[in-house]
Amino acid sequence: MRNPRKRGWRPVYLSLGSNLGRRSFHLQKAKDWLSEHPQIKIRKESSVYETSPVGPPQKPFLNSVLSIQTSLSPSELLAYLQWVESKMKRKKSARWGPRVIDLDIILYGNVKIQTSSLTIPHPEFHKRRFVLAPLSEIEHGLKPAGFRKTVARILSELTDSTQRVTLFPLRL
Ligand code: AMP
Repeated sequence: MRNPRKRGWRPVYLSLGSNLGRRSFHLQKAKDWLSEHPQIKIRKESSVYETSPVGPPQKPFLNSVLSIQTSLSPSELLAYLQWVESKMKRKKSARWGPRVIDLDIILYGNVKIQTSSLTIPHPEFHKRRFVLAPLSEIEHGLKPAGFRKTVARILSELTDSTQRVTLFPLRL
């Protein structure tokens, strides 16, 4: 009989960002932590982009998006991302402040979640060029849960020209 506790593997998109210290090393390290988890498989990774910060003045970020498959639930995955952030000595900082590493769940299958600790799809992803550019690079035709448009279309319709995103010469 099928084990009712056994969950399937879901396609998930994660955003990685760093703007403190050795930024590329931090992205690489976070990817290593993710690939070490037995319930996470990395399927695709975007290029790395250098992006202008949102919020208070600070150094530019390096950002990328990973496409993974996971059998972790959304809350288990969030807990693991937060554990990785703490392992990497991320200090609690001001909202949108500088950070060694920032790991966010952008999309989790077709799931929509709204709790006090987790919102999926990520509440800001559709306004953020630093998420949409790498996501569109690896999955341009994807329609996120609750959206009628593809990722590429959402990106092309962004009007905020203050967000700069340029390719960075690094492969994770
Ligand atoms: P940040 O400072 O950007 O890393 O935000 C961290 C907080 O956002 C955590 O307390 C999470 O519980 C919350 N959060 C809500 N939705 C998400 C999401 N989709 N991915 C990651 N963190 C989330």
